[in-house]
Amino acid sequence: MIVILVGPPGSGKGTQATNICETFGIPQVSTGDMLRAAKKAGTLDPKFLAIMDSGGLVPDEAILGLIERRFEDADTKNGVLLDGFPRTVPQAEGLEALLSKRNLKVDAVLQLDVPRDQLEERLVLRRMDKRTGKIYHLSSYPPPPDADLEHRADDQPATVKRRLDAYEAQTAALLPYYEARGVLKRVDGVGKPEEITARIAAALPAPKQ
Ligand code: AMP
Repeated sequence: MIVILVGPPGSGKGTQATNICETFGIPQVSTGDMLRAAKKAGTLDPKFLAIMDSGGLVPDEAILGLIERRFEDADTKNGVLLDGFPRTVPQAEGLEALLSKRNLKVDAVLQLDVPRDQLEERLVLRRMDKRTGKIYHLSSYPPPPDADLEHRADDQPATVKRRLDAYEAQTAALLPYYEARGVLKRVDGVGKPEEITARIAAALPAPKQ
């Protein structure tokens, strides 16, 4: 089961990814999380660090290298849920080549649809509790009083605009790519998280018992 979750930053990809992974027993592979983990461990190339902090895209070859190594891990044997990857057509082509070497293919591409003004508000007010990794929203999902809050460098207003522009400019080309392959499923991403989870479940094949 290879599922790709596509959606602009702030569309709720991370939350929905967790739910899908539990349902299908597959790991979530998020290139953003992998890059942030490398940053925290001090192993990220400083060039990539600067790109991330300014909201640009890390080069395709570096991202494909990360994904290829991740597919070697035993926990990916039943499939993966890809979150934040692919973001460009060259990444999608690289993924296809990498999967076909393993006799695999993309089963579904879920596109979470959220209007741009809502995305900007969600991101600028998003905070993470550094102790638990949980994500909060200052107005709609406030953090507990003892939270140790972090506002991601790339969630600052000017950077948010850049990230959304980068998404629109580069990732929009991905949708026709997957539409042509008959695997694209559009899901309305506005509503309560559990409503969106139900829409996603309806768009995917039933999990194996
Ligand atoms: P995310 O948490 O998915 O928004 O990723 C955070 C940042 O990591 C992005 O703004 C990019 O700089 C970088 N990044 C994550 N995934 C990719 C990808 N597939 N291609 C290029 N850059 C990426």
